[in-house]
Amino acid sequence: MLEIKCPWCGARTQTEFTYAGDATLDRPDAETGSEEDWYEYVYLRDNPRGAHDELWQHSAGCRRYVKVRRDVTTHEIIATGAPGAKLDGGGS
Ligand SMILES: [Zn+2]
Repeated sequence: MLEIKCPWCGARTQTEFTYAGDATLDRPDAETGSEEDWYEYVYLRDNPRGAHDELWQHSAGCRRYVKVRRDVTTHEIIATGAPGAKLDGGGS
């Protein structure tokens, strides 16, 4: 089981969190984004090996979103922070 360090609550077990998606995606502009831009944003995902930035919601805690840099091969949590934070230690 993963242990995720919420920046506001401290270290908690994975069961308190809900995966909320890829933290590396840039939402297309509502006015200028093309249909293809939106298709890619909603449906297409890379499946990289190694460190990757994800969003998790501390759904059984403070309910805030946490940015998590996790090695998707080993499940090691490398760093956590606020959603807009720049995390240290390799990753996407
Ligand atoms: Zn929390």
